[in-house]
Amino acid sequence: MDRSPIRREKLVASLARDEVDALLVVSETNVRYLTGFTGDSSALILMRDRALLVSDGRYATQIAQECTEVDPHIRPLGQEMDDALAEVIGRLGLGRVAFESSVVSVARHEELTNRLPTVSFLPVLGRVETLRAVKDEQEVATIRAAISMAERAFAMLRAGLRLIDTEKDAADDLEHYLRRCGAAAASFPPIVAVGPRAALPHARPSGEARIGDDDFVLIDWGASAVSAPYKSDLTRVVVTGKVTPKFETIYRTVLSAQERAIAAIRPGVAARDVDAEARSVIEEAGFGAFFQHGLGHGLGLDIHEAPRLRKESDIKLLPGMVVTVEPGIYVPGWGGVRIEDDVLVTPDGCEVLTHVPRSLDSVRVG
Ligand code: ZN
Ligand code: ZN
Repeated sequence: MDRSPIRREKLVASLARDEVDALLVVSETNVRYLTGFTGDSSALILMRDRALLVSDGRYATQIAQECTEVDPHIRPLGQEMDDALAEVIGRLGLGRVAFESSVVSVARHEELTNRLPTVSFLPVLGRVETLRAVKDEQEVATIRAAISMAERAFAMLRAGLRLIDTEKDAADDLEHYLRRCGAAAASFPPIVAVGPRAALPHARPSGEARIGDDDFVLIDWGASAVSAPYKSDLTRVVVTGKVTPKFETIYRTVLSAQERAIAAIRPGVAARDVDAEARSVIEEAGFGAFFQHGLGHGLGLDIHEAPRLRKESDIKLLPGMVVTVEPGIYVPGWGGVRIEDDVLVTPDGCEVLTHVPRSLDSVRVG
């Protein structure tokens, strides 16, 4: 079922409050979310009673197939997108047009304002992103599929992990397994970081560091589904050598921080309070200075989207939101431990969608 007409209706209701005639949507992901159109280089002009997709000749047939109740405006060969937008907005006689202030550049805003001096352009922030934060059943099902692909790919990687492999070898294998397990692609370039390199939360896999160079390796990966590019995002630390007392303390602290945070997730709770639950466990254990990022992020068509679980976030959780919960402790020169799972906010609490075991015993290989 095509949900995009319902999404547009919700958005139009929020536009009425702003007293604007239309919302100009140029973010490729937002255009897709609101129309079902899977191509690029297109912009949506959403009005109260009409939606108009400005695109080019390559996409005429595709728009007819993919979009319901959307009028196409195919710009002629040689006409730039902003010329087409100015022409259409002028012809429609729109007076007040909202635009996505986090997407439209200052230069583009200036360009449109110069061409359409009688139109007032109003910046609005995160309007579509707020809608996207709450997933419907179909979106949750696609995220579940993306998680299943990621989990099967990880099982394949773990089964074949060799101490002589470099981080890059393992990351390349993982990307291949993700595709073999049905993913369109990895949802982001996987992170494979051995020992001290795991102290960099966003380490790039190295062609020199080998899996066997230290006692543990951090792997952060996910799949992007095929039917629609919904994402999954997980992190596990795999123990390939011995478990030192320091590792055990840090691992157990991160795990209990994650468990405390997950236990706090339910509708109505502030995102910042979920972050605080995890942070307090890590602080009480004396590692507060080594947890320097937010607890998690929304997950959907983008790998990082609303809502953010962090100190400054005043968002309250709603049923249908899908978030990662990923506390970590990173000790420079020693290494890092992060455990990341994907969690759905349900009407009466939450459901952990990911299933890769995370107890200390279960993350040892060999
Ligand atoms: Zn991740
Ligand atoms: Zn993440």
